[in-house]
Amino acid sequence: MKLPFEINEAIAETRARVRFHYPWWLRPFLMERVGAITIGRRIYVRSGVGEHLHRLLRHELEHVRQINKKGLLRFYILYVVEYLKNVRAGMTSYDAYRNISFERDAYAAEEVPRSVDV
Ligand SMILES: [Zn+2]
Repeated sequence: MKLPFEINEAIAETRARVRFHYPWWLRPFLMERVGAITIGRRIYVRSGVGEHLHRLLRHELEHVRQINKKGLLRFYILYVVEYLKNVRAGMTSYDAYRNISFERDAYAAEEVPRSVDV
């Protein structure tokens, strides 16, 4: 699969592994509209995401960076704790998810290539 330089660079930097199919054991947990998911350094991308692929990869690579920084277990604990805190603050499940600080950073990373060589 041919990817932009900046994404290949991020994959190398984070030592992520990108798979273009969901493994069978993950499928029952995922909704149809979930385009990609990151577990540790493995990024699973649903087949046929088309034009969204690069955005999805930038998003998931940011999660791999976060996981590398925090450690796997700590990342998932902080993620869930923050989600529950948001729900308790009265947010809908979707808003609670979108306002997790890890998600805010990952959505921001979708827009901008991390390093732009001038
Ligand atoms: Zn995310």
